[in-house]
Amino acid sequence: MFDQKQLDYTQAPIVELQHSIALHAGIKLLVKREDQNHPFISGNKWWKLKYNLEAAQQQGYKTLLTFGGAYSNHIYATAAAAHELGLKSIGIIRGEETLPLNATLAFAKSKGMQLHYVSREAYRNKYSIEFNQSLTNRFGEFYLIPEGGTNTLAIKGVAEFAQQLQHEAAFDYVCLPVGTGGTIAGLIAGMNEQTQVVGISVLKNSEFLVDEVKNQLKNFSDRVYGNWHIETSYHHGGYAKTNPQLLEFIHTMNQQHQLPLDPVYTAKLMWGVMDMIEKEKFTPGSNVLMLHTGGLQGLHGFR
Ligand SMILES: *Cc1c(COP(=O)(O)O)cnc(C)c1O
Repeated sequence: MFDQKQLDYTQAPIVELQHSIALHAGIKLLVKREDQNHPFISGNKWWKLKYNLEAAQQQGYKTLLTFGGAYSNHIYATAAAAHELGLKSIGIIRGEETLPLNATLAFAKSKGMQLHYVSREAYRNKYSIEFNQSLTNRFGEFYLIPEGGTNTLAIKGVAEFAQQLQHEAAFDYVCLPVGTGGTIAGLIAGMNEQTQVVGISVLKNSEFLVDEVKNQLKNFSDRVYGNWHIETSYHHGGYAKTNPQLLEFIHTMNQQHQLPLDPVYTAKLMWGVMDMIEKEKFTPGSNVLMLHTGGLQGLHGFR
């Protein structure tokens, strides 16, 4: 009923990054350019949505409803996916409407997403029974996708990606940015035991993420997973916070290595990996693969 072609998936390349810091440390740095897997549903969001979209269609839903902030890559991707599959979409957006719409929300709207703004307080209670009921009263039946797209079906999708990835290249570590933890949970679930999974948190005070990921894994499978950890010191001040050094770093990576990075996720990932190489956190001689999870649409909002 549902295959990858229906969502126009393109297998993205893996490129080697010739960076002096990595060469000096004897590390081979690879980048999986998953940001190129789809023009709109790009990066990890494609995989997180895959089985949710399938479930929504199989269960006969006509409408997707999900949640996000005004710059959310997940809102952007969900709007595009719904449009491609002929489903309606509703985005519950945290905070007040600001006009003109930013690039993310303007795009979502252009794909037919109905935007519904709620206060920060209401947003905090978005999964309560009362709030859900009020949404059903207002919008009718819908297939609910949580914030960031993170649920058990998202983990299933990312685990499938992890399995494919192991056939495409040999690597000892895979590094990725962590927001809600859904993507790292999927990678851990799909990766073989010999590969270390390293998450770079983009949130401040994110020590809670370890338990969060463990819970997500527990809901997904009975297996106990080792070989992963989350680095919590590369958030640069917190979610979506930047500073001149990070912006300069983005510029340099683009100029010298033709690697476009977004300031919210992938730049912090790259920064963290370079710092870890300098601090000799990776065994010399090993292959380190960075997962470019996408998010480049967000760049428009920062310009
Ligand atoms: C959403 C997103 C993430 C975070 O993924 P989680 O599953 O929430 O941890 C990482 N990178 C990019 C580019 C994203 O858009």
